[in-house]
Amino acid sequence: MNLPLPKLGNPVIRQKSTPVPPAEINTPAFQKFIDDLIDTMHANEGVGIAAVQVGRPRSVFVVESQGNLRYPGAPDIPLLVFINPEVEFTTKEEEKDWEGCLSVPGLRGLVPRYKSLRVKALDRTGKSFQFEADGFFARVIQHEWAHLQGKVYLDFMKGMETLTFLDEYAKFWAK
Ligand code: ZN
Repeated sequence: MNLPLPKLGNPVIRQKSTPVPPAEINTPAFQKFIDDLIDTMHANEGVGIAAVQVGRPRSVFVVESQGNLRYPGAPDIPLLVFINPEVEFTTKEEEKDWEGCLSVPGLRGLVPRYKSLRVKALDRTGKSFQFEADGFFARVIQHEWAHLQGKVYLDFMKGMETLTFLDEYAKFWAK
């Protein structure tokens, strides 16, 4: 089910997400919520979405990028569910790239992010996993993880000079 998306300005977007008790993960209600989150990401052509972006400040996000229309040319990312994620940066090096957000529709901006990280989380069966990611994949994870702290990409921009409406982005900045 494609869930409605509150936008920046709705106080829920700034709320900090709370951990999901592991015993709740395998309940039908929570499994349905994960399916709805995935449906909502797909319906909106997102490469990731956090639960707080559909108004539920729980520590969960999903990612996937395969031939995405909003991010053409982006490397493929498999469908992954992260519950109670912990992120640790494995470099101090940053790089800038364009980001948008389903909670800030119609805009893009250049955002510096750490180039690589290690992420540890529970999957949708409650099993623990961890891996290292870099580049675009690491960027997507940082973006979604920040939502769990009530942060959006605008908070990570060094200035607003590159903030760009999508139609102007397509004309002047699309790679
Ligand atoms: Zn976002």
